[in-house]
Amino acid sequence: PRQGDLILEAQQVTRRFGGLIANNNMSLQVHAGEIVALIGPNGAGKSTMFNQLSAVDTPTSGEVRFLGQSLKGKSSREVAAMGMSRTFQHVKLLPGMTVLENVAIGAHLRGERGVLSAALRLERAEEQSLLQEARYQLQRVGLGDYLYEEAGSLALGQQRILEIARALCADPCLLLLDEPAAGLRFKEKQALAELLQKLRGEGMAILLVEHDMDFVMGLVDRIVVMEFGEKIAEGLPQDIQTNPAVLEAYLGG
Ligand code: ADP
Ligand code: MG
Repeated sequence: PRQGDLILEAQQVTRRFGGLIANNNMSLQVHAGEIVALIGPNGAGKSTMFNQLSAVDTPTSGEVRFLGQSLKGKSSREVAAMGMSRTFQHVKLLPGMTVLENVAIGAHLRGERGVLSAALRLERAEEQSLLQEARYQLQRVGLGDYLYEEAGSLALGQQRILEIARALCADPCLLLLDEPAAGLRFKEKQALAELLQKLRGEGMAILLVEHDMDFVMGLVDRIVVMEFGEKIAEGLPQDIQTNPAVLEAYLGG
């Protein structure tokens, strides 16, 4: 995709769980080279929305389109292979393995051959190419000096960045990040923000769920605000910051 192209589009997505409407008539767009934040109070439906967008879950009604194609009937694996990578709210590393191995395994799981083949022996050439890709992505995110450290010995901020390196394997054009700054120290948040800005500069589209308003305000191009499953506001950070409905949702509850 080229800068500014529409990459991801949710069209009136609704997701019901029995009587509960977790996402109600949600529409949103993400363009190439743009960072968008999805924010809102706990239980607003942000993670559910992420699951609809990445085909981890299927909308009750409405549609998600990625790179011009409907995700109807597609698996999350197929969507990942199309160029959408995501991280999850809780870090899922193999703490006893090296940083490099963690990323190489992630790259392998992300490939088209499926999870089962991960358990089988890899061809040596394939192993080498996975390690090369992993090394490249780790250097890209600034973890090139930590390749042979145990992943579990890294600081939390570095573990989050390791997860991003993993998501970058297989060359996605869209990253979905679920609360990437949660629990990080100020300096770590700064390093993360710098990395995301660098990726945006390379044309990457990024959609993140985030609780930390300060982190979001200085970083993103556009904000979508959810409450009770619905979109209650959308716009530039400076407008969202002073939007009465948003302040009410955050402070009034
Ligand atoms: P957020 O990520 O904004 O905190 P979630 O998307 O996790 O919110 O949840 C939105 C609502 O949907 C909550 O009330 C939650 O309990 C409900 N919910 C989420 N997933 C399920 C599920 N699989 N089954 C039933 N209810 C769910
Ligand atoms: Mg959530």
